[in-house]
Amino acid sequence: MAQQGGCIFCRIARGEIPTNKVYEDQDVIAFLDINPASVGHTLVVSKEHFDDFTKAPKDVVSHVFQVAQLIAQACLVELKADGVNVITNIGKAAGQSIGHFHVHVIPRYANDRIGIPFGKTLSLPSDQFPQLADSIRKGLPAPKLEGK
Ligand SMILES: [Zn+2]
Repeated sequence: MAQQGGCIFCRIARGEIPTNKVYEDQDVIAFLDINPASVGHTLVVSKEHFDDFTKAPKDVVSHVFQVAQLIAQACLVELKADGVNVITNIGKAAGQSIGHFHVHVIPRYANDRIGIPFGKTLSLPSDQFPQLADSIRKGLPAPKLEGK
C-alpha cells in the first residue's frame, strides 16, 4: 500500500517529523509516544502504510511484533518496569487514533493505576459460546496441522 502524504506515521517513517527514536531498521521504526500512558511508552510502526493490524501482510506483522518484543525486554531491564502491555488497536471503536498500523509497548509499574479495561463487562449466557466460536471459525482458513 502506498505511503500517504498526510499520514503522520508515514511522515515520521520518511524522517520528516523528528521523534525520540528507540529503534529503526529498513522496515520498522519505533519511537516514544508523545502522549505517554507510562514512562517509556513506545510506538512500533511499519514504515510502509497499512491501515491497521488486519490489513498488514503477515511478514510485516511478524517483524513489528518482533521489534515490540525486543523493546518490551529492554523496558523490563533498562527501565526496571514491573510488566509491559503490548497492544494494537483496530478501528476507532477500539481506540485506534492514527490509521496506520502500529503497536503500543506500554511499560507497567506496580501501582501505576493505568486502566486497561479488559475486565469482564458482559454477562453472556454460556450456551451462546459454542455458536460464537463457530461464527469466528467460519472466518478463518483451515488450520495446517502438518507434523502434528
Ligand atoms: Zn501512514
